[in-house]
Amino acid sequence: MLWGDDYMPCVQGKTNVVCIIGDPIRHSLSPIIQNAAFTADHLDYIYVPFAVTPENLAQAVSGLKALGVCGFNVTIPHKTTIIPFLDRLDESAEYAGAVNTVKLCGNLLIGYNTDGDGLVDSLQTDLNFSPGTEPVLVVGAGGAARGAIAALCRAGATNIHISNRTIEKANAIKQDMNIRYPGTHIDATTLNQVNKELLSTISLLLNTTSLGMHGERIDYINLAHMPEHAKVYDMVYSCAATPLVKESSAVGLQSVNGLGMLVAQGERAFEIWTGQKPSEGVMRRALNHL
Ligand code: NAP
Repeated sequence: MLWGDDYMPCVQGKTNVVCIIGDPIRHSLSPIIQNAAFTADHLDYIYVPFAVTPENLAQAVSGLKALGVCGFNVTIPHKTTIIPFLDRLDESAEYAGAVNTVKLCGNLLIGYNTDGDGLVDSLQTDLNFSPGTEPVLVVGAGGAARGAIAALCRAGATNIHISNRTIEKANAIKQDMNIRYPGTHIDATTLNQVNKELLSTISLLLNTTSLGMHGERIDYINLAHMPEHAKVYDMVYSCAATPLVKESSAVGLQSVNGLGMLVAQGERAFEIWTGQKPSEGVMRRALNHL
């Protein structure tokens, strides 16, 4: 999208269109960060949100292909259900079993997962944590957890414990990752099996559930049982101090919400669509102005 002399957006016939599909979509911050980066880098792109319900997903995807959009983001609840409608998966999406970014290449829709690598970027930038031998507890086993665990394995994590309300989903991720990343030891339990003994060994707790989006706390996790050096990453970013971030501060643990991951996954998606990295810090500054 170009900006006219009077600072009004100037969409032209040749403007590249990128969008996000999800349900709900009104809360999404992706239009803000992507449009800020397109503008800062003087790229003729525009990013728009579309509310797409599960029953309309197939039609929406084939419509976007027919319209010739440059690409799109995919958010709740479509990250796994979109896969059958795509032509090809990049390794990042194939191993995660979830897609958050799609690029239209010629007539082919190619799915990527930038959530996982975005998380790893943010762990480094925001918590100074690099995956390695230090044990990681991943709470949740949905689409975001899959992307995160695959990226943690790729980045060198050797010891991951997954805890989820529904044990079948945690076990399914464990099985898939054991095949793909045999160098990482993965355990899986239900949330109510997370005890003092386990928590006392953990160096990073990663919340990948949607708990906290509306102020809910995570039952069964007593952060006071974690070691002093442990860090807490909450993927939820609906407010600066999520319930988990507040609880972490109360027991003296370093913690952050998921805004850094949102920015990092967005920067990687931007590069997939445009072939260039966004100007450093533009997306994060756009969020600071909210
Ligand atoms: P999802 O596939 O729907 O998975 C939701 C997860 O939350 C599942 O593990 C589910 O457990 C758990 N959960 C939901 N309600 C629960 C409850 N009442 N008690 C216990 N567990 C509960 O969603 P997703 O795509 O993985 O997204 C999850 C969260 O990550 C969302 O808050 C999303 O905004 C956030 N996210 C953030 C970023 C970022 O850039 N920061 C990127 C991606 C996602 P069951 O399996 O038992 O249902």
